[in-house]
Amino acid sequence: MPGLPTIDEALALVLDRVRPLDAEDVPVADAAGRCLAEDALAAVDLPPFDSSAMDGYAVRAADTPGSLRVAGESAAGRPAARPLEPGEAFAISTGAVVPDGADAIVPVERTDGGRETVSVERVEPGAHVRPRGGDAAVGQPVALAGDLLRPVQVGALTSCGLTHVRCARRPTVAVLATGSELRRAGEPLGPGQIYESNSVLLAAELRLLGIEARVLEPARDDPAATRAAVERGLACDVLITSGGVSVGEHDHVRGALAELGAEEVFWRVAVKPGKPVAFSVRGAALVFGLPGNPVSSLVGFELFVRPALRALQGMRAPAPELLPGVLGATVRRSPDRDELVRARLTEGVLTPIAGQESHMIARAAAANALVLVRRGEGEIAQGSQVSWLAL
Ligand code: AMP
Ligand code: MG
Repeated sequence: MPGLPTIDEALALVLDRVRPLDAEDVPVADAAGRCLAEDALAAVDLPPFDSSAMDGYAVRAADTPGSLRVAGESAAGRPAARPLEPGEAFAISTGAVVPDGADAIVPVERTDGGRETVSVERVEPGAHVRPRGGDAAVGQPVALAGDLLRPVQVGALTSCGLTHVRCARRPTVAVLATGSELRRAGEPLGPGQIYESNSVLLAAELRLLGIEARVLEPARDDPAATRAAVERGLACDVLITSGGVSVGEHDHVRGALAELGAEEVFWRVAVKPGKPVAFSVRGAALVFGLPGNPVSSLVGFELFVRPALRALQGMRAPAPELLPGVLGATVRRSPDRDELVRARLTEGVLTPIAGQESHMIARAAAANALVLVRRGEGEIAQGSQVSWLAL
């Protein structure tokens, strides 16, 4: 398809139009799934004090081995009242402050467990002591701008004394299905009608990204109705439409966008499925016109919309994450379009599913991967190394 941008070229055109959203303060407890806008620095040393790694006795290593007087205790949250003197041991629990004067912990298993006096084995200075700041020192970065925060980072940031972090705000996203044939799930189907599933699929994708979509009332295939609905959607940072972007007489999305002053950045990409995908901008709003066939909508979301949402939030590597795998069956290449083949990944082997047409969403439901089959002549043999995207 001479003239049509490739997937990579089209994605570059999309990312080129993304302006990262403003940052806001977010409670750390709510920050999983958010993208950091600034490096997050430890507010306290971690651990905040020299702390014991074991239940046992705090001692001076120079006093070991030997029999020591048990002269105090340091429990978690209840440090000892005074420093340790030579010849003494303090009972200590995991996570308790190592008392001044002590420089090692003897684990209880390496003692006789005595309460008045205790016999301890030899330990080296520093044994089983977690030094103050050994995990993170005040001012050290715990997570970096551009990181997508995961639960492990939420835990780390909280441990380091942070209650809030600066994150890009979430994009607002409108979803608009178009088509006079569409019925809402649960209603009986009349002649020629089908269930409207694309907005439901797209809203589900968005919800997993932490974005509650504004799902608009589906628009009939009528220029005025389409235009009115598109106009509503343009109030969001991102508008995703489905259907009505192809060459049919009843496809009105591109016309509506043009009338509303949107600039069309591209229409049609050398990709299968999903060729008629359109991308436009109006002001700061990004508009993805996904083709109506449900698998085309899904592929368009993965290739272009998800990366744009990531880039809007300042994520470091917004492009789709291609993983290496092994093809489980021979696949014929398309001569002029890169293809996303629905496949089932089991034990590292990607087996294409039967039923690869773009309307076959029920078949696609068996897939958990999209295998990227680059355009070209001939076939890619079973057992070849390929790249794939998780579904
Ligand atoms: P279009 O891109 O409008 O030409 O639609 C292509 C195909 O996708 C047609 O068979 C439509 O009926 C179907 N389709 C369009 N929109 C949806 C939708 N929201 N949910 C399910 N199927 C749809
Ligand atoms: Mg249509």
